Amino acid sequence: MATLTFWGAAGGIVTGSNHLLEVEGNRYLVDCGMFQGTKKVRELNWQGFAYDPSEIKALFLTHAHLDHVGRIPYLVRHGFSGKIFATDATRDLAKVILYDAFKLHKEAVERGREEGAEELQYTEADIEKALSLFEVVDYGKLYTFDEYIEFRLRDAGHILGSAIFEIWFKNGKTKRKIVFSGDLGQPGQRIIRDPEYIREADYVVVESTYGGRIHPDKASTVLEFIEILKHIGKYGGVGMIPVFAVERAQEILYELNLLVERNILEDPVDFYLDSPMASEVTRIFERYSKYYDEDALLLLEQGDQPFRFKNFRVITNVRQSKRLKNVKRAVILAGSGMVTGGRIGHHIINHASDPNSHIIFVGYQVPGTIGRRILDGERTIRIYGHTVHIKAKVHYLQGFSSHADQTDLMYWIRNFGRGVRDIFLVHGENDQREALAQKVYLELQKTPKMPLLGETVYLE
Ligand SMILES: [Zn+2]
Repeated sequence: MATLTFWGAAGGIVTGSNHLLEVEGNRYLVDCGMFQGTKKVRELNWQGFAYDPSEIKALFLTHAHLDHVGRIPYLVRHGFSGKIFATDATRDLAKVILYDAFKLHKEAVERGREEGAEELQYTEADIEKALSLFEVVDYGKLYTFDEYIEFRLRDAGHILGSAIFEIWFKNGKTKRKIVFSGDLGQPGQRIIRDPEYIREADYVVVESTYGGRIHPDKASTVLEFIEILKHIGKYGGVGMIPVFAVERAQEILYELNLLVERNILEDPVDFYLDSPMASEVTRIFERYSKYYDEDALLLLEQGDQPFRFKNFRVITNVRQSKRLKNVKRAVILAGSGMVTGGRIGHHIINHASDPNSHIIFVGYQVPGTIGRRILDGERTIRIYGHTVHIKAKVHYLQGFSSHADQTDLMYWIRNFGRGVRDIFLVHGENDQREALAQKVYLELQKTPKMPLLGETVYLE
C-alpha cells in the first residue's frame, strides 16, 4: 500500500512544504520547510511532527528556499538520520539559508517573539548533522534508493539547483510514478535554465502559487523597471528593493548589469547590495555557472562578470549600511524579501517618507508580512518600533517572479497528457488553487485534488 500525506503547503497555506510518502510501511519525505506568514501559520513550526522523524528513510529536497528546507534541523533534532538527496547547488545554498534561519530563530526566541517557542528548538549542531546527511545527485540520472524507490531529478528552473522529483515506487507488484514539481520557475528567467517538461506520471503534485494569475511579460517588467530607475536618476530619490537572498537578488543584479553596461539609464545611479546573505549566495552563483542558461554563459564567454558593474557596491558591514541613510539617486537591494526582518526595514524607515522614493517589490509577498501589507495599500506601518508614513511610490514588478504563472503551470501540467490518475494542487492560497483547478478541469476534464493540511490520500 502507498499513501501520501500533506504536512505542509496544503489547505491554502503556501509555505511549510512537507509531503510524506509511505510505501509498504517505508517512509520518505519530500521537502521539510518553514511555515511563514501569519502568527497562526508560524505556530505550526514548533509543534513537533505528526510522524516519527527517526523512521524516515530519505528526504528528497527540491530546492533551498526556506519554506522547503527550514525545518530540516528540527527534523534532525527529533531523530531524523536518513539521507537527504539534492543537487550540489541546493546543498550549498541550504547551508547559507539554514545558518541564517538559525540566527533569526535565536533572536526571536531571545526577544520572546518566536510563535509557539519559548526556547531554542534546535542548535547549530543539528544544522551540522543535517548538512552531513546530504547526498549530492545530478539532474537527469536515475537513482535506485532501496527496493521500493527509484528517482530522478529534473531542472525546475525556479532557483539555482532547484529540482522536480520523479519518483517511481513499487506498490505490491505494480510500479507507479509520482512527480513532485517542487516550485516551478518562470520560463525565460535570467541566469538559470527553463523548467523541464515531463511526459508521463500516475500522480502529479504541483505547486499553485500563481495558479490564478498571469504575470505581465518580462519585457514590460523590464521597461517598467527602467522607468523607475530613470525617475530615480532624474529626481534623486532612493529605490528600495526587498530581495530574497537566493535567486531574486542575483536576477536583479544581472538585469542591472545589462542596463548599466549598455548605458540604458540616462542619469547615473548608485547601486548597493546590503545583504550579507545575498552576497554570499552571489558567490555560490558564480561558482555554479554549470547551471546557467545559454544567455548567461554567453555573457561569461564575452568576459563580462554578470554580478559586477559600474557604480555597484557590496555593503560589508553595519557602519556602511547605516551610512546609506544619506544617499540620494541610489538603489538599495536588501533583505528580507518580505520585509519580515533584515536591513531593508531600516532603509524603509529612512527613505519611504520621501515621495521621490520607490519601494519596488520583485517577488511574492506572503499574507501577514509587512511587505504584503505595504503592497496591499497600507501607508502607515510600524517597523522596528518606528511608525513610518509611506509616501514613496510602491511598485510590484511581477515579471521578475521566479514562479510559473497560470499559463506556465498549465503548459507544464498539460504535458502529462490524460494518463494521469490524480493531480494534487499544493503550495497555493485557496483562490489560486481553485482558479488552477478550474482551468485544469476545462482543459483536461480532470478535477485536481486540493489536499487539506494533514490529509492522506491513497496511491493505488
Ligand atoms: Zn521556492
